[in-house]
Amino acid sequence: MTPFPDGPADPTFLDLSRPGEDEILLKKECHRLATEVIRPAARTLDRMAPGERVAPGSPYFSALGHLKSLGYHRMFLPPEVGGIDPPVSPLARAIFLEELGWGSLGLATAFGVDMLPFVLIAMFGSERLKTDLLAPWVDDTEGALHGCWGATEPDHGSDAVMSLRDPTAAGFARPQAVAVPDGDGWRIRGQKAAWVSSAPVATHCALHVQVEGEADPLHGMFAIVPLDLPGVSRGQPIAMLGARDDPQCEIFFDDVALPADHLLVASTPFYGIFVDQLLCATSATIANIAVGVARAAFEEALAYARRRVQGGVPIAEHKNVQLTLYGMFEKIETARCYARQVLSHIQGETVPGGGSGPSTPGAGAAGGGGGSGMMTGFGASPRHSRAAQIYAKRIAFEVANDALQVCGAYGLTEESLTEKLFRDARSLWIEDGTLEVLSLDAARDLISNYETDRYVPEEVMQRW
Ligand SMILES: Cc1cc2nc3c(=O)[nH]c(=O)nc-3n(C[C@H](O)[C@H](O)[C@H](O)COP(=O)(O)OP(=O)(O)OC[C@H]3O[C@@H](n4cnc5c(N)ncnc54)[C@H](O)[C@@H]3O)c2cc1C
Repeated sequence: MTPFPDGPADPTFLDLSRPGEDEILLKKECHRLATEVIRPAARTLDRMAPGERVAPGSPYFSALGHLKSLGYHRMFLPPEVGGIDPPVSPLARAIFLEELGWGSLGLATAFGVDMLPFVLIAMFGSERLKTDLLAPWVDDTEGALHGCWGATEPDHGSDAVMSLRDPTAAGFARPQAVAVPDGDGWRIRGQKAAWVSSAPVATHCALHVQVEGEADPLHGMFAIVPLDLPGVSRGQPIAMLGARDDPQCEIFFDDVALPADHLLVASTPFYGIFVDQLLCATSATIANIAVGVARAAFEEALAYARRRVQGGVPIAEHKNVQLTLYGMFEKIETARCYARQVLSHIQGETVPGGGSGPSTPGAGAAGGGGGSGMMTGFGASPRHSRAAQIYAKRIAFEVANDALQVCGAYGLTEESLTEKLFRDARSLWIEDGTLEVLSLDAARDLISNYETDRYVPEEVMQRW
């Protein structure tokens, strides 16, 4: 019995997106990385104690450092600020994310949150931030710098999503991370939830904070906080059911002094639009990663069904197993198709230089950021992006659950990859918004805007 089998050397399935030569090469390379680097590191991390995962020498650092040494972190940046030149296609990005998810959910999440502070500096940051923070991250070949995303708080999990379109949001509990004006800059006080991915090891946080005294969560701000500033501390890494290869912990801010230009998006009507559009981007990213998780589970089940003999024949010859395998395949194919379509839409609407909508309403709003003029559109559709995330996450767990059934008792053992995939896929139903709450948010958007063909910022601005 091979623990954590390697999977096929090439991702040899018929890809209906018709990838070109470059995209096929990238797919093979990413699959090799996922097989040789991501999976072995994830397997080791999955079995380590939370504290060991973040200690020097942990495979977490070598796996992410490997991705950085190959420049994958530059894939989502425009060339003028260090991105890959010429930029890769949305299909190539989707392929990369799927392979990363196929490798492991935790490290794929770590890769995603790492980008957040820095890609957003590229969009909204001052020239000083680009030189001092973005450039070293672009040039990092060892994984010395690492980003995280501080959105949720102990008393505000789903609230972070629901506040966008819930008119009663001002009545939610008091925010737990606030910003207070201090001369030219700000003081940050409070804390973020214990679920912040990569927080135990991150060097920079993309932080959502409330303006002190404001009740409505849309009166928030978005800042970049270097985590070595005086007053920053962290909780202990926590033990979770799934995605164990991306460590999580609380971050505390004890009167942390933040220079003015570290505030990228100020508390203006644009903040709500920014958060809404950011959720579109994270939704599309997670959707493609979730397709990779689902495909990994399907391939485990398929390989097992072909080799496991019961009733004198491989179990793949039994009709119940055939129907299960077909159902898994159908879900993955439809999820992939939609996740890619939505990623392409999102990239066109929100990625620097990629859109066709109005020029950035956020540029300059930060009182120091000023934007670069690269952000050209904010037309990403919340209901479509949420749907991609919800659907892909839902089917990933259903497929992982089916894979367990096909693999019988072997699938339940710690030696089997299926057991880890099941735990990871279950975490997906909560990560980046629960299925229910994302669905409610999407429902509100579609009820208000179904007939409109562009994003309606007034939806989130009407409460201002
Ligand atoms: C693997 C993982 C990684 C994560 N990474 C990050 C990260 O990098 N950064 C970060 O900031 N956070 C992160 N999170 C936190 C994540 O965003 C939250 O866990 C999620 O939004 C849900 O919040 P909660 O866990 O507090 O659940 P709660 O909000 O307490 O929800 C509990 C239950 O109540 C339901 N519910 C809550 N409110 C409503 C409502 N208004 N209407 C209807 N139903 C409702 C929910 O659907 C759920 O079933 C991560 C979580 C996980 C599991």
